[in-house]
Amino acid sequence: MKNIKEYNLDELQNELLSMGEKKYRAEQIFKWIYVDKVKEFDEMTNLSIELREKLKQNYTMCNFNILKKQESSDGTKKYLFDVLDGNAIETVLMQYHHGITICVSSQIGCKMGCKFCASTGIKFVRSLSCGEIVEQILAVEQDIGDKISNIVFMGIGEPFDNYDNVMKAIKVINNQKGLNIGARHISISTSGLVPMIYKFADEELQCTLSISLHATNDEKRSKMMPINNRYNIQELMKACKYYIEKTNKRISFEYALAKDNNDNLDDAKELVKLLKGMLCHVNLIPINKIENGEFTKSSNENIIRFRDYLNEKGIVATIRRELGADIDAACGQLRRKNLV
Ligand code: SAH
Repeated sequence: MKNIKEYNLDELQNELLSMGEKKYRAEQIFKWIYVDKVKEFDEMTNLSIELREKLKQNYTMCNFNILKKQESSDGTKKYLFDVLDGNAIETVLMQYHHGITICVSSQIGCKMGCKFCASTGIKFVRSLSCGEIVEQILAVEQDIGDKISNIVFMGIGEPFDNYDNVMKAIKVINNQKGLNIGARHISISTSGLVPMIYKFADEELQCTLSISLHATNDEKRSKMMPINNRYNIQELMKACKYYIEKTNKRISFEYALAKDNNDNLDDAKELVKLLKGMLCHVNLIPINKIENGEFTKSSNENIIRFRDYLNEKGIVATIRRELGADIDAACGQLRRKNLV
């Protein structure tokens, strides 16, 4: 059985045509799924009973079950979803004054091995399909009965290691007849898979690209992020410059500050040198310590000094608000949990 949420609207139209049905039925089904957010074919009441039966015989709705839901004192919610094959993933909802943001996972586990991230050290299982990425948004919207305004691909996994499915999911999220969330409200974060940055630039999408930089020289970055041994900072910056030139869009560089590692003024100076003249923004993340992790959070004093130095030198930098730390829902704290 095929998951009906694996199709974008064009593909669903083809599916319906191949079943001998009229094309416009696809639009009706799309609306039931993404606008009315029904969970069963039987709820699609403008379809004939025969068609509903046919759909049930050929497709599933693949609704995720909520295995666990935790709520932080700051309103952040963390969901553990059963992805229906014995695996589970985490998705986080954050409330900001400008709306609700959800942080979606793109893979079950992650291959990148960043030393400071809790998704490291757990087995990589597989990439998520388009339908499974989109279902995280649907399931949260169904649970809260409200609309999500922003999506960040910053949960478990490396979105550019699952490029095609992520791009396809963006199309469904973006479609005005689908979830109708504008590309400007979608951010994708990558640890720096250079060839995919070029590919993404050529898509000319309006999404925000975030780059997990975290260090300003290869020695330091390689110690934090093994991906740097494959694509070093010079290659990464070259790809970033290509992206900016091609799209004329600002890149958001993420920089997680770890005590006595990358948080002193010399690091800030190197960062200014690296980013000078680029259309960018720096998002400083106070690092969240993970179990058995070697990195600990910088002092507030250092974080503020680091930010002020960048701003003084003309690089716009902000400190990311820490949300959901009390329920292990903050940056880098997500893990794949087993069902047992
Ligand atoms: N794989 C992608 C997206 C997932 S992580 C990437 O690497 O960009 C989203 C962000 O959280 C990344 O910038 C990541 O480096 C950061 N992060 C991971 N672990 C963290 C931790 N313990 N503290 C703070 N930020 C962390």
